[in-house]
Amino acid sequence: MPEGKTLIMKFGGTSVGSVDALVKATQIIRDAKKDWDRVVVVTSAMSGVTNLLLDSAASAAQGTVDSLAETESMLREKHFSAADALIKDEDLREKTKTEIEVYIKSLVNLCKAIAVLGEASPRAMDAVASLGERMSLRLLGAIVHDSGVRSKAIESSEFIITNDHFQNAHPDFNVTTEKTRGLLNPIMDDGFIPITSGFIGATPEGVITTLGRGGSDYSAAIIASVLPANEVWIWTDVNGVMTSDPRIVKEARTLPEISYGEIAELAYYGAKVLHPKTIRPVVEAGIELRICNTFNPSHPGTRLKANGSNGKTNGRVIKAVTAIRNQRLVTIEGRGMLGVPGVAARAFGAVASTGTSVPLITQASSEQSICFAVPSESAKQVLDALEKNFALELSVRDIDRVWATEEVAIITAVGSGTRNTPGVAGKIFSKLGNKEINVLAIAHGSSDVSISMVVETIDTEFAVRALHELIV
Ligand code: ASP
Ligand code: MG
Repeated sequence: MPEGKTLIMKFGGTSVGSVDALVKATQIIRDAKKDWDRVVVVTSAMSGVTNLLLDSAASAAQGTVDSLAETESMLREKHFSAADALIKDEDLREKTKTEIEVYIKSLVNLCKAIAVLGEASPRAMDAVASLGERMSLRLLGAIVHDSGVRSKAIESSEFIITNDHFQNAHPDFNVTTEKTRGLLNPIMDDGFIPITSGFIGATPEGVITTLGRGGSDYSAAIIASVLPANEVWIWTDVNGVMTSDPRIVKEARTLPEISYGEIAELAYYGAKVLHPKTIRPVVEAGIELRICNTFNPSHPGTRLKANGSNGKTNGRVIKAVTAIRNQRLVTIEGRGMLGVPGVAARAFGAVASTGTSVPLITQASSEQSICFAVPSESAKQVLDALEKNFALELSVRDIDRVWATEEVAIITAVGSGTRNTPGVAGKIFSKLGNKEINVLAIAHGSSDVSISMVVETIDTEFAVRALHELIV
């Protein structure tokens, strides 16, 4: 391993999404080099750009290219105004704008082709989606270089080599290790900072792939684990991971420390802090991860620890409370299900056939019903699939009915030790009971870091606030 300590810094969309953000990001990059021998920068697309690109491709697939001209000018405005404001060297500024213009033109060509075909293959979607990071990479690279920081922009498709599972590609870690070291180490040996794109990889044949939405975090983790690096810092627009959504709970505060297990549960349950795949490569390589705020860089943010502090601060186990809305509870019920093997397997087989993933499952020991949550928009499809699959049982009344509730929310209390610490469930349910919040379903035990319960939509915010009282 080369000498010196290595830091990977990833900037999210809002951290490179405006002139102000880019000024701050550039300063952060400059400062990092004072404390770290080796620094790698990973950038997301400017905020909103990936959505805009994918929407254009989706409309093109429907045969609509009318809004393309507007999209073009939005992209131009967003990137060019930053280039004009922040790249002083005229040649570099014009060169950068020309490079970005090529990507904008390529979006137009791709969308026209998609419109002609009347469909967008996953491969074409990746070609489109990758343009956001390709543009932001040129922009950030030029801005940082222009500010006098010794840096070199390099596209991640040159060294993150993946399979051809477009839109959710998986890296080949052996090839990626070799290529990443081969390309990034010489740049760093010369004292430069490699600046690279998140989200994008390429197949061994060089076809562009992406790692899935929000995948820039994962890119940073991959690079960190293969180099390897000592730490990964994820720069975002909030002061780290919070105890709850501050829009719901005004007392929500930053958690100075959280364990990998806890954050995984938070990411899964809708807090969108980190791309869920980020965690594994970092944990396995024993790398420290920190989440910090580009707009408040002196705030310590949140540090991720392999074991955390066992979750217990002042004897309190619960560290964070989150809510996922827009769910429905689907129930399959009937006396004929009792003791019959295979009902659950068939039920979840039917759900899986609709491409729906299930965030919560419960079954009572009487075995006369199974209940699980699905996103509202999939409920109809799931019910149809279940009715079809259990048509026979329904006709002979072994299964009485398959139905879905109105929209509900899943509230999750996260904290290591929720399973093994006595009294946690008691506290949670007394809190909710005292506030007269009815719990429709509970899932607990499959994970030691969370308890989830389903409540009616109108109780969502009350429930989150009530449980937050158990934290502070
Ligand atoms: N730009 C990509 C997205 O919006 C990747 C990322 O930002 O992490 O999904
Ligand atoms: Mg993100």
